[in-house]
Amino acid sequence: MASQESLKDLENKFKKGKIPYALDTEIYERFSERNTIFARVGWDNSFSGYQRRINEKESVKVGMKGYSREGYAASSAAWTVYDEFRGAFSWKMDEKEKSITQYSSKLTRFDSTNLKKNAKIVKRIAKVFGACDVGLTKLDPEIPFIYTHNRQNEPLTLPEEVKYAIVMLIEMDYHALKTSPALPSSITTGNGYSRMAFAIACMANFLRNLGYKAVPAGNDTGISVPLAAKAGLGQVGRNGMLINPKYGQSVRICKVYTDFPFEIDYPINFGVIQFCRICKKCAQYCPSQSIPYDEDPSWKSQWKTISNNPGAYKWYVDVDSCYNYWVKNSTDCSNCIRVCPFTKPPGFGHDIARFFIKRFPILDPLWLRIDNIMSLFPWWRYGKKDDPERFWKGKKYIGK
Ligand code: SF4
Ligand code: SF4
Repeated sequence: MASQESLKDLENKFKKGKIPYALDTEIYERFSERNTIFARVGWDNSFSGYQRRINEKESVKVGMKGYSREGYAASSAAWTVYDEFRGAFSWKMDEKEKSITQYSSKLTRFDSTNLKKNAKIVKRIAKVFGACDVGLTKLDPEIPFIYTHNRQNEPLTLPEEVKYAIVMLIEMDYHALKTSPALPSSITTGNGYSRMAFAIACMANFLRNLGYKAVPAGNDTGISVPLAAKAGLGQVGRNGMLINPKYGQSVRICKVYTDFPFEIDYPINFGVIQFCRICKKCAQYCPSQSIPYDEDPSWKSQWKTISNNPGAYKWYVDVDSCYNYWVKNSTDCSNCIRVCPFTKPPGFGHDIARFFIKRFPILDPLWLRIDNIMSLFPWWRYGKKDDPERFWKGKKYIGK
């Protein structure tokens, strides 16, 4: 283990937002995707959620408020591109060479010496392919955040020349999320995953057409949240999710690993960690009580689960009990995303709060109190669960 002094130093830097993550490199090791919760459902018979499908109780729940017949149809359909066109974007090990180097253009390789220009091109086209925000970063050879194995337990190694990552955020609909844990919030989650698939498939082929390698990934291949933080897209909150300065937690993350070089982005600090230390709203509103209440993060998980990887200084979430709640709920849950004060959409009041949270953490308790008081008005439903019927009656989706 690193010396106590250096760990303390890392803790302080992380709490002050000076580094995007703190790792005890003598303990932290690359992780296998096979140990993530959704993979374990398929193989780990010691897990209480083993072989339990999230929607296994839909025939019992259907017809209850928030769990309509059309809601189940839409929440499943929303995943279609992600689930059924996987071969179009995922990096299949058995087709590795073909899938990472497929090159459709007869033109010569794109001149890649102007790193600033390369970054600009990639960011522009990422928006065209559906990203609401984009961050560019270089893979750290010490901590590449690449899984050791995929879900099928096959070893994963990126080609040596693949040293960069394009991280894209896909916006979810705030008003749909507000109905969590009812079905409309699952619709926007599934829709986010399908749009992730579209964005990374197009981005990967764009890079290949320029003459470079591309390994597109959704949640697979590597861990997304710290990579997004490293790429300057936000900070990691108490519930383990990325918090973006504009969209809060209302985003999904996808990435494309590549050898196409570009000017990289740097981590940002807008006061999330300091705020999370006092906030704890996600923990309070978590129906399975899977999120810790401790003021400070810790270096290892207090939960008995192989899905948590020790050696990172963070708040560890009990993903086993979280998944079991999803099964009980008969669809996924986004309560921790819904109640997070940073998830509230931009607007004059929220922009002012964010301005002060970034610069004057001493005022954090005041902003938290204001957030709590505003959620007391029943007609406003501020951060509270919204009526799922409002989603079906609404006309807008993601601001359109
Ligand atoms: S998704 Fe729901 S159950 Fe899981 S940690 Fe968040 S609030 Fe808790
Ligand atoms: S709800 Fe509060 S504690 Fe939880 S992630 Fe958001 S800001 Fe942090």
